[in-house]
Amino acid sequence: MYAHPFSYHRAKSLAEASKLLQQLGDESRVLAGGQSLIPLMKMRLARPTALIDINFVPGLSGIQSHNGELRFGALARHTDVEMSEAVATIPILHDCAAGIADVQVRNQGTIGGSLAEADPSGDWGATLLTLETSLQCTGPQGERSIRLEDFIKDAYTTVLAHDELVRGITVKKPPRNSGGAYQAFKRSAPVYATASAAVQLTLEGKDICRDMRVVLGCVGLTAIRAKKAEDELRGKKIDGKTIQRAAEAAREAAEPYSDMRGSADYKRALVAALVKRALGIALRRARGERVEAGHEYVGR
Ligand SMILES: Cc1cc2nc3c(=O)[nH]c(=O)nc-3n(C[C@H](O)[C@H](O)[C@H](O)COP(=O)(O)OP(=O)(O)OC[C@H]3O[C@@H](n4cnc5c(N)ncnc54)[C@H](O)[C@@H]3O)c2cc1C
Repeated sequence: MYAHPFSYHRAKSLAEASKLLQQLGDESRVLAGGQSLIPLMKMRLARPTALIDINFVPGLSGIQSHNGELRFGALARHTDVEMSEAVATIPILHDCAAGIADVQVRNQGTIGGSLAEADPSGDWGATLLTLETSLQCTGPQGERSIRLEDFIKDAYTTVLAHDELVRGITVKKPPRNSGGAYQAFKRSAPVYATASAAVQLTLEGKDICRDMRVVLGCVGLTAIRAKKAEDELRGKKIDGKTIQRAAEAAREAAEPYSDMRGSADYKRALVAALVKRALGIALRRARGERVEAGHEYVGR
């Protein structure tokens, strides 16, 4: 199907993009990688009257390591993140980027667009919530920094005003003896995951959990921080028993709906298994082991 007619505007700066959003009204939309917006327009589930393309705004694509932080431009593509040497120091980010959809989507889709879309099935929300993440946003009132936990309000809903844009994303590097892992279970590459689990932990000695975060994806209207699962491990020895208790708490925290990807019960069981697996990988990484991990596919 063809998209509903729209006008196209190429912004040279974010200030110009913000002004255009104001001038062109509520039905105008920002165009980044177009990997969510264009399919929705072609299915006529979105009918913007104007698109404001930010792909020609300079300085929005970089990934820099600075002062204990990783800084992503909003237009950093999933592939840029996957290939970045700076990102390799935080393996959970690589796990996430390398498994999103297929090569074509990863070459176009952006980290800023993914967070702005706030799709409950998106991989970045769950992954980045395990880390100290903030978004730098710009609009007519100037710049503001918003913590990721305050940015996504509901499914497909953020705190951004209509004329406000994401300029960049900042992730604080985890302390020494930390490890993380992202496990997403998919039916095939170009579909969203059925369920996912993101885990980031810091060790005290060899196996005591000093701190940790567990976040569940695709099993609620937004990514869910499983705080009771974290409590099962924080300050305790990580072993088979505590991992099992954390996985059970994660199952309780999930709020899935039955749909074409599986029943709610199936997704609860799946998310518990993914948490267990992610914890095992995160633990090995925190001990300094190199472990390849990422999305898992049916039948692989
Ligand atoms: C076949 C297919 C499979 C996919 N599978 C997955 C998957 O498994 N996991 C996953 O996470 N994603 C998946 N995606 C989505 C993909 O990751 C997109 O890249 C992402 O959702 C949106 O990023 P984008 O840059 O394409 O944004 P766009 O589609 O350009 O924009 C999305 C929304 O965000 C707004 N927006 C974009 N950038 C900004 C900005 N800087 N400031 C303010 N608002 C902005 C737009 O106005 C629009 O409303 C898939 C997409 C396709 C087509």
